[in-house]
Amino acid sequence: VTPNVLMVLCDTARADAFAPWGGRHRSPAMERLCETGITYTQAISAAPWTLPSIASIFSGLLPTEHRITGECIRRVDGRPSSPAPAVRAHRGSWLPEALRDRGFRTWGASCNSWISAWSGFDRGFDEFANLRQRRVVKTGTGRLTRRLREMSVLGREDKGGMAALRLFQRWLRGGHESAPWFAFVNLMEVHTPYDPPIRFHPVFDRAGSRRIRLPRYQIMQGPLRARPSRGYLAAIRSLYAACGRYEDWLVGGFVEAVKQGTGPSVVVVVSDHGENLGEHGLFGHHSSLHETLLHVPLVVAGHRHALGEGRVDRPVSIKGLADWLIGVVDGEDSPMDAHGPVVSEYESTSRHTPTPHELRDRMEEGNGSRLPALVHQPGVAVRDGDRKYVVTEDGRQALHDLDADPGEESNLLGPDAGAGAEMAALIAVVEAWRRRRADTQPIPGGADFAEGEIAEHLRVLGYIE
Ligand SMILES: [Zn+2]
Repeated sequence: VTPNVLMVLCDTARADAFAPWGGRHRSPAMERLCETGITYTQAISAAPWTLPSIASIFSGLLPTEHRITGECIRRVDGRPSSPAPAVRAHRGSWLPEALRDRGFRTWGASCNSWISAWSGFDRGFDEFANLRQRRVVKTGTGRLTRRLREMSVLGREDKGGMAALRLFQRWLRGGHESAPWFAFVNLMEVHTPYDPPIRFHPVFDRAGSRRIRLPRYQIMQGPLRARPSRGYLAAIRSLYAACGRYEDWLVGGFVEAVKQGTGPSVVVVVSDHGENLGEHGLFGHHSSLHETLLHVPLVVAGHRHALGEGRVDRPVSIKGLADWLIGVVDGEDSPMDAHGPVVSEYESTSRHTPTPHELRDRMEEGNGSRLPALVHQPGVAVRDGDRKYVVTEDGRQALHDLDADPGEESNLLGPDAGAGAEMAALIAVVEAWRRRRADTQPIPGGADFAEGEIAEHLRVLGYIE
């Protein structure tokens, strides 16, 4: 019998947002899922931000191949244009479409405006819901309104995850016994601003959060990044972890809903990219190719459908999910695997997102406009076992041994080291990336600029100043 497929995408969840991948807090739902399924301990995203990464999950291609990246976005008055023309121009396989072609009913819900009908990501879905957080002040975008909204964040109910869960439960109850279904949900609970619901809030944690002035830092998340104090870092990390505990609870709700239904199912929980929480002097995402952004959680589990259980410890790209899932519903049982080195690409969002506060500050302190090495510009990361090779378009490069140096602190190449023979395979991958970049033209952005609720949502998320 063909299994149903549920894919829960925990937007912006770095691997250690959850216990099975090194998180310090319990993640009951993820832990249960990992016990019954296959845990990928070294899942790597194809890009460090939402748009190209999820396009890679759906298409099975690298960003330079599917071309749904920041390079097709124009900005007018700070507002980005919709990437929908690039999504529509894609001619290859597209996971929701491929499953619909196989007779699946397809349902999607997204709490991220980058993945919405506006951005063209409803492609292939019979039904698609765009959700946003509650309590967004709907009138006015002035400074005072914004400030008031920011101040109301403490203990906000959620960012749309609860509404997505209720929609999913209702949709399942609608009865879809005649055909298998594919359901996709994008949860945004660990995205900035970090404001977990009150019952998961660390202010009620006995760990003594009052000492680190959580409410103040919760309200002042952005402006304090330039020179973060130790208290700020502790507060931000504790808020992010609390958001992760809430998201774990939501994941549990989705899995439970599937178990109550009839028929076999395959559940995939994955993230599109991680988050910098002060590491490398960076916050947020879409600035670099560090492991804090590329190493993501991934678990696949069967319910009344044998998928096997255990752990896969070798690096695997999450862009392999589409082909693997299509194989699973076609009755194959080949494991998801990487063939050769795992590649991640960053097209640089510098053209369409403002330079992050913390980078702007370091540039001003340094020699003017020069960016710190290996950040906020186009680059590629190649992972081969524990070795990771990173190159940016300006020719700077780094080689890390992630086993000995998981924080990517030391560059084994040094400033003027020559490349040894063992580097040849990695260099060949970088050369191929350079050729793809040179050979492909960006798809021009459309005239559909973010406005209204979409623009307001992107502002809350930090994509519009
Ligand atoms: Zn994302």
